[in-house]
Amino acid sequence: MDLLKTLVDKGLRRELPTREEALAVLAASDDEVLDVVAAASKVRTHWFGRRVKLNYLVNLKSGLCPEDCSYCSQRLGSKAEILKYTWLKPDEAAAAAKAGVSGGAKRVCLVASGRGPTDRDVERVSQTIEAIKQENGDVEICACLGLLSDGQADKLRAAGADAYNHNLNTSESTYGDICTTHDFSDRVSTVQQAQAAGLSACSGLIAGMGESDEDLVDVVYALRDLDPDSVPVNFLIPFEGTPLAKEWNLTPQRCLRILAMVRFVCPDVEVRIAGGREVHLRSMQPLALHLANSIFLGDYLTSEGQAGQADLAMIADAGFTVEGTDQVTLPEHRADVAGAGCGSGGGCAPCGGGEAEADEPAPEPVAASVGAAAVGPSRAGSGDGPRPELVAVRRRGAGTDLPPNA
Ligand code: SF4
Repeated sequence: MDLLKTLVDKGLRRELPTREEALAVLAASDDEVLDVVAAASKVRTHWFGRRVKLNYLVNLKSGLCPEDCSYCSQRLGSKAEILKYTWLKPDEAAAAAKAGVSGGAKRVCLVASGRGPTDRDVERVSQTIEAIKQENGDVEICACLGLLSDGQADKLRAAGADAYNHNLNTSESTYGDICTTHDFSDRVSTVQQAQAAGLSACSGLIAGMGESDEDLVDVVYALRDLDPDSVPVNFLIPFEGTPLAKEWNLTPQRCLRILAMVRFVCPDVEVRIAGGREVHLRSMQPLALHLANSIFLGDYLTSEGQAGQADLAMIADAGFTVEGTDQVTLPEHRADVAGAGCGSGGGCAPCGGGEAEADEPAPEPVAASVGAAAVGPSRAGSGDGPRPELVAVRRRGAGTDLPPNA
């Protein structure tokens, strides 16, 4: 059976592809990318129609982090010339959030740099959540504050947070290569604490850090085991002044293959194109909407995205619609309340299961089905060269006197 047909059939049944099938998607040639996109698009459309969910980032506290995540412009020792500021006041954060909501965002992501929040920080964020919800009762709030301590997820939930984001970023086996101040299991534990508190879990990855195809498949399978409701896919923004500044490994076609692989492995989950969309997908961004059902509107934490109006025009031009607050993001079997699915305690979907693999016959010569590339250990270094001019440090919005981009 043709590999892509197999993957579509499995995606429609919410069945886990084999690792070989996932690796074959990443190994597809550029000539086959449109076929891969068309196939994964069927899965995306089946579960999410033509809706695109918009999310809006508010960086509550920027830079000055004591952790050493090598991909991050806010890390310890970063020489990136980003905005650095301490906690925004609740009314300042609410004003920034309002701009995003006015631009069409239905989720606001409140992010703070740092290893993890103190209890005082959780109190500050709780006040911010209340300020935002007072003005925009329908908006979903996702907090992203780093590693959580006991009881903090419950406090955020009680304050009105709907979701918590903490990314796994890369495979467990290579996590030590990108960070030495915390480990993969710390991150898994925080996602699980969020889920246990009834928060919708958001957890994703960063591609383009020099990882192998196997690493990418590993982290996506680890995510599926964790069963988050949303999976942000970041493409590394190689900031000057960070250890990964020279890692320009991605092409638009590789980004599309990665998004397609994530969609096949997590078919009914909100797949969000996150940081690096403009830098790496560039004019191919509209094609990626056929794979992901969610994007960030406007700017990122420390870098500028394209104008929010350009995001909206792109969505309309590509034939998609912006998801409204009256629409539930997740398919019915995952959504028990708006924006929250299995991660909030259901156990209803098989997204965490791997049992399908055991009974599944080994795929037919996958490399012959999609692409002639051999499936095996590889490191993807096929980028199209450094493009530092594409990285624009954020100089507007939260923490500045200039209006936000939304
Ligand atoms: S990713 Fe988070 S924890 Fe790591 S350096 Fe950046 S702000 Fe700090």
